[in-house]
Amino acid sequence: MINENEHEELKRRSGKLIQGTGLVLTPAELDRIEVADFGLGHPSREGAQILTLLQSERITVKLVVLITGQTLPEHWHPPVGTDPGKEETIRVLRGRLRLYVDGPDSIRPGVIPEGKESVYTCRQEHLLEPGQQHTLESDEKHWFQAGSEPVVFFSFSTVARDALDRFTDPAVKRFPPIQPD
Ligand code: ZN
Repeated sequence: MINENEHEELKRRSGKLIQGTGLVLTPAELDRIEVADFGLGHPSREGAQILTLLQSERITVKLVVLITGQTLPEHWHPPVGTDPGKEETIRVLRGRLRLYVDGPDSIRPGVIPEGKESVYTCRQEHLLEPGQQHTLESDEKHWFQAGSEPVVFFSFSTVARDALDRFTDPAVKRFPPIQPD
């Protein structure tokens, strides 16, 4: 569960990081930044701050913020009915994003969250700098991490159905309740 103070702090920092890229957000958008801890209870380590800018029946645009060392857990976007699953293009705005997909192992040591080797199976590393982008195919497994500095990136995609995303870690719950303190 997310602790409310930590949640507010991550939200506030993430708003500042987005604004620091020069993107202009409305107060309502700043307030809508979602702190996702994926039910794991330690969002600064495994989590992400997500702002959905556009969600229609066909396309989705999100901003994602990862603070230093934060990991967005391994997941994939499965087919739903006749939809082959979300195709997603990542474009980095600030920081250097570590992106992991299936493929020849090129992961640097010490990157996988401690004790979680079995639920981070994608070991091919891509480093994306600001202005670089990468497309993830439908149903393609992936995970993200910020290294020694925070990262802000766009996710442009076909329609997102977050509640149906699949995670390698069976402990993940995509929409856990917030714990007041
Ligand atoms: Zn994804």
